[in-house]
Amino acid sequence: MIIVMKPHAKEPQIQEVLHFVHNLGLEPHMSKGTTVTIIGVIGDESKLVNSNIELLQGVDKIVPILESYKLANKQFNPTPSIVKVRDIEIGGDALVIMAGPCAVESREQLLQSAHAVKAAGAQILRGGAYKPRTSPYAFQGLEEEGLRYMAEAREETGLAVVCEVTSSRAVEAAVKYVDILQIGARNMQNFHLLREVGKTNVPVLLKRGLCATIEEWLNAAEYIMSEGNKNVILCERGIRTYETATRNTLDISAVPVMKMKTHLPIIVDPSHATGVRAFVPALSKACIAVGADGLMIEVHPDPAHALSDGPQSLDPEAFMELCQELRPYAKLAGRKF
Ligand code: PEP
Ligand code: MN
Repeated sequence: MIIVMKPHAKEPQIQEVLHFVHNLGLEPHMSKGTTVTIIGVIGDESKLVNSNIELLQGVDKIVPILESYKLANKQFNPTPSIVKVRDIEIGGDALVIMAGPCAVESREQLLQSAHAVKAAGAQILRGGAYKPRTSPYAFQGLEEEGLRYMAEAREETGLAVVCEVTSSRAVEAAVKYVDILQIGARNMQNFHLLREVGKTNVPVLLKRGLCATIEEWLNAAEYIMSEGNKNVILCERGIRTYETATRNTLDISAVPVMKMKTHLPIIVDPSHATGVRAFVPALSKACIAVGADGLMIEVHPDPAHALSDGPQSLDPEAFMELCQELRPYAKLAGRKF
């Protein structure tokens, strides 16, 4: 439910509404625009329906939110959210590039990757320390040792760092080392894990599930936000379709659809979407054109010998070239990069 205040409603009128909502045992969330203030309400909506709140001074109307996600809903908070990670703003004017290896394999491999992606213009280093692999026999990640290398790479380069978490134990460890917690596609509906990261105050990068609808994805964001952590960044990474030419099918329309449905920033991962490095540049440009707030790209110093996802990883030279190519596209889309 949202309460729309009349244009230029006075501060005491707004405060009166906030108190009224509180006294009903409901939780108000205020969003102040230049002329109109709206107050989103979470809780048992029937209390509000029967309350005569529309009779209070300054209230224009009460509008129900029909979707099951509320905090993530654009109706609830019409101003686009900016997630701040150190001095980086995700969802602001700048195009934010997260790049690095699929997995942290060694200290040297990670530091080399970090220097390479920084030199090309990335602002955030990615690297998996807990790898949710399809096969239980594949490399599973260095776990806390990998997190320590991520923190070291951050110290050495000044890049912010993002790392996937796959369990409560991983969350407990990762909050000590990284700037963004990543929820991978395979865990998008691991509701316990979503609540766990929602209880932290560390920004969360929420990847779209392999077979998740937009609505399911937004409800996953709602799980995190409902625990208090509002710093959620969405990441489209391709969905499973009947097509086999690429690893997944990039749902490029998810970007404008999300821009319409939610205030949360959205980035795109063309590496996991295609599984083929040759397709990464074209899709990166497309993502910028449709309004993505950033990109996540896999980069490895020696893709041929990568322990995971080598075929989709760019080497440092190719990544440098890609970043150069992206600059005019970013400019055209009104993004700083
Ligand atoms: C990853 O980014 O390391 C990853 C495993 O991606 P996804 O969860 O999108 O498959
Ligand atoms: Mn990968």
